[in-house]
Amino acid sequence: MFQNTPKENFMKTMTCNQLGGACEKVFSAETFEEMAEMSKLHGMEMFKKQDEAHLNAMNKMQELMKEPGEMEKWFESKRKEFDALPNSN
Ligand SMILES: [Zn+2]
Repeated sequence: MFQNTPKENFMKTMTCNQLGGACEKVFSAETFEEMAEMSKLHGMEMFKKQDEAHLNAMNKMQELMKEPGEMEKWFESKRKEFDALPNSN
């Protein structure tokens, strides 16, 4: 039988909400960078669709990011959250 590749053993999941978004879409990624990238792509897609909930969430984020260093702080706190997650399987 086929076995899971090791990569799959390190997948972690976070929702759009957890990543500062506005829905329960689940992202699975091996690293926080991948996770952030997926969330970003999803955000861009929602922006194109002019999804109101996501637009509001993005506005809030942009407000927060106006403060110097806040972006880094937010990123680090999310990274810690990610690191603390158990592997999804
Ligand atoms: Zn979303």
